[in-house]
Amino acid sequence: MSVERMPAPELLGLNRFNVDEEEPHIVLDKEMCAKCQDKPCLYVCPAVLYKLDKNGAISFDYAGCLECGTCRVMCKNKGIVKWVYPRGTFGISFRQG
Ligand code: SF4
Repeated sequence: MSVERMPAPELLGLNRFNVDEEEPHIVLDKEMCAKCQDKPCLYVCPAVLYKLDKNGAISFDYAGCLECGTCRVMCKNKGIVKWVYPRGTFGISFRQG
């Protein structure tokens, strides 16, 4: 018996987000991020929320965050100055397991 699995992008597309526009649950210190050589956040975020802008600075939007905590663990240079779960009723609702 084979079990058909849905591709990851489709699975992620089922999720629902209630973004807290007033209180970001992840906040960066852009000056610290500018000094960081490795910028692991660019590679570890499964939602690809960390990007480089045209000036080479970190660009980040917490909307779409999967709340996995990987960026918090991998950020060794204290560029992430706040990482908490979103306030009640906000954040991601997983729809497929
Ligand atoms: S918690 Fe996970 S999904 Fe959210 S920004 Fe960090 S690495 Fe990306």
